[in-house]
Amino acid sequence: MIRIGVIALQGNIEEHVQAAERALAERGGGEVIQIKHSGIIPGCDAIIIPGGESTTVGRLMEREGITPEIKAAAKHTPILGTCAGLILLAKHGDEQIERTKQPLLKLMDIHVKRNAFGRQRESFEALLDIPVLGGEPFPAVFIRAPAITHAEKDVQILASLGEYIVAARQKNLLALAFHPELTDDMRFHHYFLDMI
Ligand code: GLN
Repeated sequence: MIRIGVIALQGNIEEHVQAAERALAERGGGEVIQIKHSGIIPGCDAIIIPGGESTTVGRLMEREGITPEIKAAAKHTPILGTCAGLILLAKHGDEQIERTKQPLLKLMDIHVKRNAFGRQRESFEALLDIPVLGGEPFPAVFIRAPAITHAEKDVQILASLGEYIVAARQKNLLALAFHPELTDDMRFHHYFLDMI
């Protein structure tokens, strides 16, 4: 049975749990468990890092001993990071991230900018053209979203919005600036589960 672990320390956890349960139910079942401490990640087939406050989530993951487990799992286990989760997956942060020394997992060769879309556009929806999901545009919900400003050569760019990259994959790691768990469109979840 497939087991998906959702990092459940801070942020929009419940929505991710429900979306992952729904995606699993649509393809033969599986279980979703919430990760609040160390010891659970080694038994997961895939891991989701939800949106929230990346500074807080990063610090709590370190405190709970989850950080080294995710780094070890990242060698083979699919990991989806949405919004704050995207920030945490990045190897390179913007000036603010560097200055505040907020902890990053440093797993993907991407450069990220926090709150890239500014305060005026705290939250918005955009229809994105995402070729790996097929022809229909994907309804992407952005909430105080970060963006990828630059991706190195091993990174596959899955979607862009204006000057920014908003979805990217590097081997088993998937980073989305938006929130697929907040829409009824399950294509990104199935794309992620296909990575297992
Ligand atoms: N702005 C948040 C951060 O920088 C991310 C927002 C979100 O995850 N919805 O951590």
